[in-house]
Amino acid sequence: MKNIAIIGAGITGLSAAFYAKKAGNSVKVFEKMSRVGGVMHTLQKNGFTYETGPSTGSVSLPEVVELYEDLGIQDLLEQASSIAGNRFILKKGKLCALPSGLISGLTTPLFSWKDKFGMPFEPFRKRGTDPNESLSEMVRRRLGQSILDYAVDPFVSGVYAGNPDVMIPKYALPKLYNLEHNHGSFIRGTIAKMKEPKPERNKKATKKVFSTQGGLSVLAEHLEKAIGKENFVLGLSPVVVQENGKFKIVAGENSFGPFDNVIYTAGASHIFEALPFAQEKFPGANQVLYAKVSEVAIGFNKWEGVPLNGFGALMPSKEKRNILGILYMSTLFKNRAPKGGVLLSVFVGGLRHPDFIDLPEDKFKEMVCKEVADIMKIPNMKPDLFEVTHHEEAIPQYDLKTPVREEAYKGIEKAYPGILMGGNGIDGIGMAKRIAQGRELAGRV
Ligand SMILES: Cc1cc2nc3c(=O)[nH]c(=O)nc-3n(C[C@H](O)[C@H](O)[C@H](O)COP(=O)(O)OP(=O)(O)OC[C@H]3O[C@@H](n4cnc5c(N)ncnc54)[C@H](O)[C@@H]3O)c2cc1C
Repeated sequence: MKNIAIIGAGITGLSAAFYAKKAGNSVKVFEKMSRVGGVMHTLQKNGFTYETGPSTGSVSLPEVVELYEDLGIQDLLEQASSIAGNRFILKKGKLCALPSGLISGLTTPLFSWKDKFGMPFEPFRKRGTDPNESLSEMVRRRLGQSILDYAVDPFVSGVYAGNPDVMIPKYALPKLYNLEHNHGSFIRGTIAKMKEPKPERNKKATKKVFSTQGGLSVLAEHLEKAIGKENFVLGLSPVVVQENGKFKIVAGENSFGPFDNVIYTAGASHIFEALPFAQEKFPGANQVLYAKVSEVAIGFNKWEGVPLNGFGALMPSKEKRNILGILYMSTLFKNRAPKGGVLLSVFVGGLRHPDFIDLPEDKFKEMVCKEVADIMKIPNMKPDLFEVTHHEEAIPQYDLKTPVREEAYKGIEKAYPGILMGGNGIDGIGMAKRIAQGRELAGRV
């Protein structure tokens, strides 16, 4: 049994603490805010249940399902129906379905004929040679400009609030990068992957969109309960101190420990608040570019816009809109809006529009309402809910700073045995990756 300190009570820290405790260790979680969950946070108002941070995750790894099973709350895991497979992309003011097969791929107005007919030749194109090539360059080279503009660019906006010109596939989309790196082509690599035998456990990774019944805060609350409320120190910034080969943690007036291990899971920009002694030797650890994002929950008691039969709609940069995307939350999950009503999650800002976060409240509302009414064809834009959450440090970008950060994280682990480094500054931002990383960190202890 070890005595373990966990820094940060977002989904990564909670998963790490839960699995470390489950394995018989004693844990103490230190969190700067006065609540657990990190950016994962659900609120209720006027009969709507809305998220202020992540709205959904993808069951892309078995660890997601296993976390709910291990918590004994598998009945609360809500996986959206197949309707979530319908995704819409705005082109010339119209929402067009993203193609999902050969016929729709040929008939879609999203891509140029050149790129559609060029697709069968993708396996014969030359392999890239620059590991630090941007996503834009890679996609333009292998698939064509229109696929970059109307599939990849909106995807990058939707997931990272980012920009494919600065995103490096090797770090941001390693699976995609490896298809070309290992197999010479996306198509050849995908076929080879499909033929690989999969462990039985992988069947749990349904790739479906998920949340928790009642919202993602419900997952955080169950984790908090399972870890034990008495094992949290909330509302204080912890500072780690090295002492006789172990670690002490000073938080406010109090000192805790000694701990055998410290698991760091807060964001990359906050590392030296908790680990000040590492700053001089590893200055690269907090090198991170964040996309700023404003998330707007918009609710309607009665819906008069376009049919909401899908996951949501994304805006390619080429369309020059003032929002990044709209998620159809009440289509995906139950009980998010009053009966007959609709809840949308609208994302604004990102690397495209970093200044929107600073707009005066009334200007911001006017801009978002105008865009949503126009795109969703709402004749009378009078929402019954309009709640804005601004995130100055929403999504870390996996750009050229990533290898610098990764090296520094590895260096810290090596230089200070017992410290383990995690959080969404390394290994991806998605909820599934966060849960898997938390569990892996606990396993490493
Ligand atoms: C607006 C938004 C929308 C998103 N949408 C999606 C989505 O739809 N799907 C998806 O998969 N992912 C989404 N993401 C990404 C995903 O939510 C995050 O990557 C993930 O939740 C991060 O979890 P975490 O535990 O690593 O970090 P966090 O949730 O950021 O938790 C870190 C915790 O550390 C605390 N902390 C910071 N500094 C210190 C310190 N010095 N000492 C102690 N504690 C500290 C913070 O207060 C915080 O509670 C979204 C993110 C945002 C912001």
